Amino acid sequence: MSNQNQGFTSTILKLRFMFHEYYKSNPDSVEVPEKVHNREFGVQSWEWNWFCPKRKVRDESGRETTTGCGQSGTSLSSVKSCPNCGSDDIQATTWRRHVGYLNHDELIHDLVSVAPHSIYHSAAFYRIPVARNMSEKEWFGAELVFDIDADHLDLPCAKEHDAWRCNTETCHETGTGTHPESCPSCGGKSFGTRKWVCEKCLLEAKKHTVKLYDEFIINDFGFDPESIQLNYSGHRGYHLRVQDPRVYKLDSNGRIQIVHYIMGLGLNTEKVIVNQGGVNRVPDRVFPGWAGKLANAIIEFVRNIDSYSGTERWVRPLRKGKASALEGLLRNPPILSKEAKDIGLKSWQEIAEKAAEFYGGEIDRPVTHDIHRVIRLIGSLNGKTGFSVSKLTRDTIDDFDPFHDAVALNNGQMKVKFLRRSPGVPRFRIGDETYGPFHGESVELPTAAAVFALCKGVAIIE
Ligand SMILES: [Zn+2]
Ligand SMILES: [Zn+2]
Ligand SMILES: [Zn+2]
Repeated sequence: MSNQNQGFTSTILKLRFMFHEYYKSNPDSVEVPEKVHNREFGVQSWEWNWFCPKRKVRDESGRETTTGCGQSGTSLSSVKSCPNCGSDDIQATTWRRHVGYLNHDELIHDLVSVAPHSIYHSAAFYRIPVARNMSEKEWFGAELVFDIDADHLDLPCAKEHDAWRCNTETCHETGTGTHPESCPSCGGKSFGTRKWVCEKCLLEAKKHTVKLYDEFIINDFGFDPESIQLNYSGHRGYHLRVQDPRVYKLDSNGRIQIVHYIMGLGLNTEKVIVNQGGVNRVPDRVFPGWAGKLANAIIEFVRNIDSYSGTERWVRPLRKGKASALEGLLRNPPILSKEAKDIGLKSWQEIAEKAAEFYGGEIDRPVTHDIHRVIRLIGSLNGKTGFSVSKLTRDTIDDFDPFHDAVALNNGQMKVKFLRRSPGVPRFRIGDETYGPFHGESVELPTAAAVFALCKGVAIIE
């Protein structure tokens, strides 16, 4: 084994041991979900389980040969071919699905003994959560779940701190942002990616979470705050769960409608943007639901009209009449300014429709409409950062600082070696200290910063 491989192996063993110690000393930090015995758990371990199936195949000349050896095993590094016979045709996974626990103690016991990289549970309730097939599980409801993740926000900071690396053995070209369609050096189409997380990402994700909570979940839907659970995911976002029996039975279609409502998709603006006494009007802000949001939505849209990429006929006049349009919209009650003359009623209805999409909540759609989705266990550790999946409330989220408050492992110092891979590791903050940038250095760091770098896969144990 090369030194670096050895470094990776000892890094994983060390992290797993630290996770193990954490769960052993903090069993009460884990928030066991309601009706735990009706949930399916998904457990992602640090090691790969591989299986090399034995198959009989016929080659071109019609001769029968056997591939694979039927062996199985575990490995701490990713397995691409059978370690025993070299066959490429193997199955390898870090996941265990269809796991069930009868109670709190069973769950904690498993967490301490397995110390997984990550652990998830279903938002759904099943009579038989451990059944292998969805049809056999007997679904009888699911919480309504929202995921607000920096991944989906398309933030400018991602272009600076996310990175890609060409997978071609002889190339390994690197770059920042999302990877190109094909490698500029070798034309290869397979890439490894490094998603980073920074304060800007998480502030933006938090802003959208709070908006979802206040404007949509509380104001528009009127859910009881007592039935809403908020948490930080431990990596790039936040989760919101509605635990109200009235939503449990909603099927996927019902959930899609909720998603569309929140995202402001397919709004019919003809009935609300109307001409009254020669003036084009938008509803007063006091109206409930989208009607009352439209004035503010159009304001936000008009403010950003210069960077809007659409080419509708109203784009140019709206840019020209921006100031007077804003002036009219900011009035109480708001009006659609006459000064922006070249924009007729029909155009304002279209603008309002676009503005609603622009203003609508940023949520990861499939998470909400998939009624079998699994979501991270609150209080568990996220193996991508070493941070805790932190429970929050509407009162605590405003001041919540993930790089401080979600730090779980922070005892002493550790010596780590950053990988010499471009682009280097961006500067990051843990607690009150900032670290980096790094590019191949060996350094001694406080444990929380070291764990973060090790979990992100940009350093190994020295
Ligand atoms: Zn094999
Ligand atoms: Zn390449
Ligand atoms: Zn960022």
